[in-house]
Amino acid sequence: MKFVVMENDGIGPEIMAATLPVLRRLNDALGLGIELQHCLGGLKAWEQIGETVPQATRDACDAADGVIVGPVGTYEYPDEARQATNPNRFMRTHFDLFANVRPAKTRPGVPARVDHMDLVIVRENTEGFYADRNMFQGSGEFMPTEDVALSVRKITRQGSERIARHAFQTAQERRKKVCMVHKANVLKMTDGLFRDTVAVVGREFPGVELEELIVDAATAHLVRRPEDFDVIVTTNAFGDILSDLCSELSGSLGLAGSINAGAGQVMAQAQHGSAPDIAGQGKSNPTALLLSTGMLLEELGRRTSRNDLAQAAGKLYAAVDGVLADPVNHTPDLGGGNTTDGFGRAVLGALDLD
Ligand code: ATP
Repeated sequence: MKFVVMENDGIGPEIMAATLPVLRRLNDALGLGIELQHCLGGLKAWEQIGETVPQATRDACDAADGVIVGPVGTYEYPDEARQATNPNRFMRTHFDLFANVRPAKTRPGVPARVDHMDLVIVRENTEGFYADRNMFQGSGEFMPTEDVALSVRKITRQGSERIARHAFQTAQERRKKVCMVHKANVLKMTDGLFRDTVAVVGREFPGVELEELIVDAATAHLVRRPEDFDVIVTTNAFGDILSDLCSELSGSLGLAGSINAGAGQVMAQAQHGSAPDIAGQGKSNPTALLLSTGMLLEELGRRTSRNDLAQAAGKLYAAVDGVLADPVNHTPDLGGGNTTDGFGRAVLGALDLD
């Protein structure tokens, strides 16, 4: 099994350096047969070969069974590079990674802003407001005159159907509750189509309860009664915003793992961005990328019916939870003084490989 690894930008190299030894140790101890192939992407690729997603990287991803990527931070890109392919856009459109699965949960020992939360946001990942990736050709954003800027938001029945199905299937394996979040009171056609489609798919899952919330109200409910939520299904931009809210409520953006899943490829990527404010200082929390890597193993285990991959994911999650339970291990985002590297080493030491 081959995984492509791309560090990308900002804190990408340091969180990757803390994560890969854990994956390698699991690979060796459990004989998973995973081979890692490092590929260039993002700003470093631009500086070295003038492309943000070089052809060699594209080819390697095409041939890989899974991909692990660091964050992409376009703020630091020179103007020319900003016009080049955004690596996130490339991966999500090229592999049609339509489901961005973003869990958020409170954990023993981790200071959180709410008492209890254990939810998963299932975010549609290919359409919505994402103008650089929601059109077949051209952009969903344009300026008819220098004083007018327009953005087209795309919602399709097919896109809504497949993300809804992913959400209901996820809920079936959890607490059997889906909350759809939209703004259909104002965006009557687009979010109306999303809402109606999710409701129709919901009828295929009679054992799963379905509620709905308008997105602004959802933010209040998430703060007020986070423990009630199980799976949230929503459109692209709403999912992006709500997942930052939820991960920060659960303690820190640095805790928030995620996978981007399509029918043929799965990509592990932390929910957070490149964190340019702390990049290169060894202050970042690698938990999000560690958990994303666990989610990749778990998802591939499910797809290939390989118990050893599921077992490896379980061991990774247990080690991360064990390390987070002791505040002495916490990185500065959680109020501690540990380094990125120190946290990674603690997880390595906490792996139960007997
Ligand atoms: P980008 O443009 O890449 O999205 P950003 O700064 O706009 O970058 P994030 O990178 O998501 O957005 O960062 C938001 C805040 O969360 C920043 O203060 C950042 O330092 C913090 N943060 C993000 N990831 C982590 C992490 N892994 N560990 C600690 N803090 C983090």
